[in-house]
Order: sequence, then structure tokens, then C-alpha cells
Amino acid sequence: MDRRKVLGSIGVLAAGTALLPALTPRKQADKLGIALVGLGNYATRQLAPALQATEHCYLAGIVTGTPTKAEEWSKRYNIPEKNIYNYENLDQIKDNPDIDIVYVVLPNFMHAEYTIRAFQAGKHVICEKPMGLNVQECKDMIAAGRKAGKLLQIGYRLYYEPHHLAAHKIGSNQEWGHTVFMESSLGFRMAIPGIWRLDKDKGGGGAIMDLGVYCIQGGRRYIGEPPVSVVAQGYNTNPELFKGIYESVTFQMEFASGAICNGTTSYSAYVDRFHASGEKGWMELKPCFNASQKVVIQSSKDITVNGTVNEYQQIAQMDAFALNINDETPVTASGEEGLIDLQIIEAIKRSITSGQKEKIDYSV
Ligand code: NDP
Repeated sequence: MDRRKVLGSIGVLAAGTALLPALTPRKQADKLGIALVGLGNYATRQLAPALQATEHCYLAGIVTGTPTKAEEWSKRYNIPEKNIYNYENLDQIKDNPDIDIVYVVLPNFMHAEYTIRAFQAGKHVICEKPMGLNVQECKDMIAAGRKAGKLLQIGYRLYYEPHHLAAHKIGSNQEWGHTVFMESSLGFRMAIPGIWRLDKDKGGGGAIMDLGVYCIQGGRRYIGEPPVSVVAQGYNTNPELFKGIYESVTFQMEFASGAICNGTTSYSAYVDRFHASGEKGWMELKPCFNASQKVVIQSSKDITVNGTVNEYQQIAQMDAFALNINDETPVTASGEEGLIDLQIIEAIKRSITSGQKEKIDYSV
């Protein structure tokens, strides 16, 4: 009998026990166990708190290279010693039935390696954005998941955010007529010398790798299809700090319908908004993409936003993935979605170098 069925029967037996405290072992046993890999800012400030409120999954384990964090997290989140791993012994997680999902929250250059290792250990995987450093890594990750027969979700929390879903419905259905142009921008200051985000090999190329996926998705998800070509420009006013990477990248994506989307990413200034203009109206999300701020929607016409706005956007994202696993349904923020964004980012990089409009071929 598989583990979930056993736990299911225990659940039925225990159901008569009234007024169980919120996080008893039985209640957690009904949920899928997640192990967070890499206990940095995002795991600490967003994912772990969100996992205290998820309905279908819970924080079961951790993987860290820092022993003091292991001790601290173990106490704070009641994580047993047997569910704590480091980067060397991570593969032993295959023998741990408490862990159903491995969530890779490591620097970008480690995404492909740890996603593939987690699949080889027989676990489902959530991998943070950007999915990989390049298209080939994304393809390798998708192939590893298929080989293992396990599901992959990219940490695209906004795929489950009600304001974004309302906006995409308007755009895809052309509720305000043909979309003529869009502006999609995300930037903040990242002026800390020596950090992995500014290292070309570890971050993958600065702001466009870190923030580009959001600006790209703003446009392509509003239109409901990927762009056909892109023109891009890279800028660097501080080559000492931004060594071999662009400080800011602007790009213009063109869609088959004729719509255009102007995107801006920057590591030097703060911006966070999406604007779309159609023949019959306009719509704006501001703040739009940032994980720590609530999305605000405004428009020239009334908009109905359905769905629950959680304190942490990651609650809906992780619960949706747990349900995909339980119900054997397709993942919305799939590896294929992550791959599309890397195909577009590679075209953006090609265009900066060539100075030309670059067609985007999704078949390669
Ligand atoms: P941090 O630098 O804060 O944390 C990364 C963690 O990875 C470290 O704390 C460390 O954890 C571990 N690590 C292992 N090897 C290395 C190494 N060689 N260099 C640096 N760290 C290492 O990064 P973030 O938490 O901000 O970002 C992690 C990932 O999450 C990135 O891919 C980023 O793009 C993504 N992200 C996604 C967001 C979203 O909204 N979806 C928002 C923010 C980030 P330990 O000490 O436990 O080993």
C-alpha cells in the first residue's frame, strides 16, 4: 500500500478525535512534505513563512551548507534531524518518505544540477526562476523529470496570483479590443560587490536573468502567446561593479498580432509595473511583480478580481503544485513555461550583441 493511502486510513481513524491542534503530526501527514534547498533570503523571508499557511504541503525538511542555519531552522520549524541534509548527502533524500517535493532555492547556476539530482532521487521538484542559465539546461531538467516520472514546477508565484489572472483574462480575450502596446518593467538596486547575482557565471547575466522573466511574462501572458521577435539594448554605466554583465536591459518584444511590449530590467533603479493599452481601454498593475508587495490593479474600466489574495503569493503556488501531484493534473507554471522564457532571454542577449531584431525559434 502506498504511503498516502496508509496515511489516508490513519486520517480516517483519527477523524473522530475532536479539536486537534493546528499542526499535529496527523494533519501534517495529510500534506505533502517539502524540503527547501538553500536557506537564503527567499527561503527565509517568503517560502518558510508561506509554508506555515499552506493547506496541501508543509515544511518537512531542509538542505543547507550552513550548520548554524540547520540548527536554527530545526528549532524554529520543528524539523527532525533525519530530515536535515547538506549538499553532499542530498542524494540520500531518496530513502526519506517524509519528503515528496524538493524545492530548489539556490543561486541560478545551481538550479539545473540540483533539480536533476532531486529527480534522480525520485522526488517532485519546484525550481526557482530563472529556470536555468540557458535553454539547454532547461531541456535537460525537463528530460530528467520525464525520465523520473515526476512533476516540475518553476517558482512562478504570479501564475497563481488573482490580479495577474484577471489581467491575463482581459488581454487574452481581447476584452478591450486589440492590444496595441504594453510596458513591463522591474528593477531595483543591486550594488553589493561580490554577490552571486553580479557574477556572470553564477547569476547568468545580471538583471535580465534575475528580473527579465517577470517583464517577459507580463507581456506574453497578457497577449496569451509568446513573442515572435525581439530587439534589445544593454547598458552599463558602472563596469567596475557590473563586470561582464549589463546593469540595465531594455527590450521590445513583437507579437504575431502586431502588439509590442517594451520591457525594462535594471539593477540600478526601482521600478515595478505593467501597463497595457488596447483600442478600447487600458490596464495597469502597480506594484506588479515584486514578491514582498501586494499587487494593485487599475484600469479605465471596472475589473472583477476573483480568488483569494494570500499574505504570501507562494501559498497558492505551492498548494497548486501539491494538488497537481495528488490529482495528477498538469502543472500551470511548468518547465515548458520556464523554457519559453529562457528562449526569449537568449534572443534578447543575441539582439544586444547583433544590434538586430532577432526572431525567436521555439522549435530549437
Ligand atoms: P540568497 O543569496 O539569499 O540565498 C541563496 C542560498 O543558497 C544561500 O543562502 C545558501 O544557503 C545557498 N548557497 C549554496 N551555495 C551557494 C553559493 N555558491 N553561493 C551563494 N549561495 C549558495 O539568494 P535568494 O534567496 O535571494 O535567491 C535564491 C533563488 O531564488 C534565486 O534563483 C532567485 O532568482 C530566486 N528568487 C525568487 C524569487 C521569487 O519571487 N520567485 C524572489 C527571490 C529570489 P545555505 O547557507 O543554506 O547553504
